[in-house]
Amino acid sequence: MPLELLAGWGRTAITRTELVEPTRESVANHVRSGNSLIARGLGRGYGDCAVVAGGKTVSTRQLRSLRVDGGSIEVDAGTSLEEVMKFALPQGWFVPVTPGTRFVTVGGAIAADIHGKNHHRDGTFGSHVEWIDLLLASGEIRRLTPGDRLFWATVGGMGLTGIILSARVRMTPVETARMSTVNQQVKNVDALMDMMVRADYEWRYSVAWVDTMATKGSLGRSVLSTGEHATLSDARVKGDPLAYEPRQRLTAPGFVPSGVLNKWSVRAFNEAWFRKAPRKAKKGLESITHFFHPLDGVAEWNRIYGRNGFIQYQVVVPDSHASTVPCMIETFATRQVPVFLAVLKRFGKANDGMLSFPTTGWTLAVDIPAGVDGVAGILDEMDERVVGEGGRIYLAKDSRMNPRHLASMYPRLDEFRSVRDEVDPSRRFMSNLSQRLGL
Ligand SMILES: Cc1cc2nc3c(=O)[nH]c(=O)nc-3n(C[C@H](O)[C@H](O)[C@H](O)COP(=O)(O)OP(=O)(O)OC[C@H]3O[C@@H](n4cnc5c(N)ncnc54)[C@H](O)[C@@H]3O)c2cc1C
Repeated sequence: MPLELLAGWGRTAITRTELVEPTRESVANHVRSGNSLIARGLGRGYGDCAVVAGGKTVSTRQLRSLRVDGGSIEVDAGTSLEEVMKFALPQGWFVPVTPGTRFVTVGGAIAADIHGKNHHRDGTFGSHVEWIDLLLASGEIRRLTPGDRLFWATVGGMGLTGIILSARVRMTPVETARMSTVNQQVKNVDALMDMMVRADYEWRYSVAWVDTMATKGSLGRSVLSTGEHATLSDARVKGDPLAYEPRQRLTAPGFVPSGVLNKWSVRAFNEAWFRKAPRKAKKGLESITHFFHPLDGVAEWNRIYGRNGFIQYQVVVPDSHASTVPCMIETFATRQVPVFLAVLKRFGKANDGMLSFPTTGWTLAVDIPAGVDGVAGILDEMDERVVGEGGRIYLAKDSRMNPRHLASMYPRLDEFRSVRDEVDPSRRFMSNLSQRLGL
């Protein structure tokens, strides 16, 4: 079979792999073929989790079917959240958790146990899954429920327990496909963190975009967005209340030369973005797409980072070490790291996935062009601090962390490995991520 070059969304570490796209009937043949394998959904993981060098990368995009049954959906794993929403929203059901893009598959959402802007209320995607049909290394298909250890090794297990074929997921009832929102500028990170703690009680969804280039009294100035699903009683809802018609208006031009995103261009962008937001709290009515998936308006936006690609660095620190958030932002600001997008969110209680990322506290995610001088060392220092404080790095975004941190970050790693020993003793399922980190 011809080999293909594949990477994650950050476009670093491009890898040669055999890409196959089986049907539900033929997928087990690949598992029986003896090669090492890893499942791949829409490749929105930023790093190297959804590709295996020298093995078979199994695209799940032929596995697509969907039906709504009461308040749940039964869905094949290659179905995207966009497809789920197009189908279920007109019937009054929304996905329980959505990431910042609708172009992820249900399989990818379970395997990374994704979180959204509502983690403080609703937990991760995995906490809404009723069962999973998993194709094991033996070729057997097993139905897993939350009472099974293998279920919680698979939720957040980064595809390393087998191929998720389908799942049943509880949905969120909504009266409209609009969001009732409040957006506002916040003068600095201290004020922001106070407001976000309060927002946990007042809002189902909250997220902040942070300017990591601003300094002094404006350190961490931000735009805070909070929202709830609008109800039919909202007089601003006009037309078909459940209409959902997401569009991609633009496609990013070819690769922008590396270096165009530098501290000057990023500072100018941040200034414009901050000024565009209302100075005082402003109520609005937004579409689902505008509120949850603004980046999806531009197809292939990852190309703006140039051929070198970019790193997304996402960590969580516990509430007891909340002061680490302003310290990290200060480091980016004083060392003039061109962080193009920085997002701060709250996490509620930790979930049951053995390798799930969220744990109670603060999560900061930043995008940095790859290859910027000095950044590797800065992130290594941050890793040390985050690990020392009981925090962790998100595996779905990682492409660079030192494997020696893994066991401290993920204290249930041994339990995860023992489940893998039972279902895949010869480690047929592996990815570049699992090999790099010795998972
Ligand atoms: C713009 C953007 C915003 C994002 N925002 C968020 C966010 O807010 N919150 C968040 O949690 N994540 C976020 N992400 C990350 C994304 O949600 C996850 O990486 C998700 O796993 C991607 O799904 P995918 O279908 O593209 O999976 P892929 O990237 O193809 O794969 C991701 C992992 O899932 C495994 N996998 C995929 N399908 C299966 C399957 N059928 N069976 C077993 N394993 C499988 C792969 O092996 C791999 O380990 C964001 C990504 C982007 C690009």
